[in-house]
Amino acid sequence: MELYIVAAVVLLVAIVGAGLAYFVPRRRRPPVPIEKPIETKPQVVEVPVAEAPVLEVPEPTAGRLVRLRARLSKSQSVFGKGLLALLARDKLDDDTWDEIEETLIGADVGVQATTEIVGKLREKARVEGTNSAEQLRGLLTDELVTALDPGLDRSLDVSPKDGRPAVLLVVGVNGSGKTTTCGKIARVLVADGHSVVLGAADTFRAAAADQLATWAGRVGAEVVRGPEGADPASVAFDAVKRGIDAGVDTVLVDTAGRLQNKVGLMDELGKVKRVVEKHGPVDETLLVLDATTGQNGLEQARVFTEVVDVTGVVLTKLDGTAKGGIVIAVQRKLGIPVKLVGLGEGPDDLAPFDPRQFVDALIGSDA
Ligand code: GDP
Repeated sequence: MELYIVAAVVLLVAIVGAGLAYFVPRRRRPPVPIEKPIETKPQVVEVPVAEAPVLEVPEPTAGRLVRLRARLSKSQSVFGKGLLALLARDKLDDDTWDEIEETLIGADVGVQATTEIVGKLREKARVEGTNSAEQLRGLLTDELVTALDPGLDRSLDVSPKDGRPAVLLVVGVNGSGKTTTCGKIARVLVADGHSVVLGAADTFRAAAADQLATWAGRVGAEVVRGPEGADPASVAFDAVKRGIDAGVDTVLVDTAGRLQNKVGLMDELGKVKRVVEKHGPVDETLLVLDATTGQNGLEQARVFTEVVDVTGVVLTKLDGTAKGGIVIAVQRKLGIPVKLVGLGEGPDDLAPFDPRQFVDALIGSDA
């Protein structure tokens, strides 16, 4: 019996031991140290990205002539000071009036316009009994402004009509600043909120199209160009077509200005105009004139006005050695309003022309 009890106990102990062995967790292995992952920087593969061009924001056009007047008055101050010194003389005798005339003619005002201006000034001074320098300066200012016909419309016709962009042709002899002026006008238009397509129809001067493309790129305008030596008329046609298709406000066409003779010019420019007009009428034809060419420039200008219907003049390089009086001569001889003036090579050195502001700058008024 005792043997049975011992056997039972042994069996019990064995069972319990086995059960415990099952439930008691085995001794854990020492934890394997977790290796810190080696920090690897994410690999950035630098894919060269074409840089988006940074577009320039052109200066507002309002007040440009006033801002740029220093450019003008620097070269004109001799003229202005000379006139004012003459008007300040105690006695305005015949000799003094002759000197005033000479000063105006020397400033490129032109003989006919000078004679008229001085004649009226003299008459007014006599009738009003004016002899104070200040009053005479006022009278001179008024006469010069009147000579510039302040009532003329100098706005540019650049707004689309009937869903068609306004079309501007820019004409003038090579070197007058035509392409530069196209670029500057494009900036003026963009500054005023217009969308613009430029037509590089000066296909004779190799660099002209590149020059125009550079200008356009700076303000985000599109350029239509043809291969070198392409027919200017076909480039002009394509530019206007592109403008119509793209629904822009204004198409500005730079033309070639080879002034060999009137017939050649007529053939070339006349054709450009005719071909462009297949799309509709040209809204503005701007003649670019280099102010430093003085009275000679007027002869060139006359030929252009006979070939195309010029609606406005852009007088460039008034900041240089040009004499300001040329503005009066140009407008009177051609009977066409000066609409813009170029006062430097900088991108925003083009100003809408305003007769009074111009005369004030010319004769050094404080206004
Ligand atoms: P284009 O042959 O008529 O197209 O003449 P460009 O546009 O190439 O200009 C001829 C030169 O005149 C360039 O060196 C221009 O920078 C310069 N030019 C244009 N307009 C002006 C201006 O208003 N003032 C000055 N000082 N230079 C100008």
